[in-house]
Amino acid sequence: MRPCRCLLRELSEADSYKSVYDYISLIPPDLKTEPPELEKRLEACKRCSSLVNGLCRICGCFVEARAAKKPNRCPGEKDMWD
Ligand code: SF4
Repeated sequence: MRPCRCLLRELSEADSYKSVYDYISLIPPDLKTEPPELEKRLEACKRCSSLVNGLCRICGCFVEARAAKKPNRCPGEKDMWD
């Protein structure tokens, strides 16, 4: 897969969605969050008032992309993934 140098505003909605999942699929295996931990993180995001349309209002990341990388932390004042 060849990385796209496009901005989201230049992509269709479907391509924007796909680009997030392409990014996740390119995370090296040793940096990928294990599935049970990933689900725990995403469930915490779903309960969080900072989640808006898949984005974290605090850091601006797509939470599925942020949560998929093991070393990343929740940027909230209190780490909601802990
Ligand atoms: S603050 Fe943490 S839990 Fe809330 S949406 Fe952002 S990453 Fe998810």
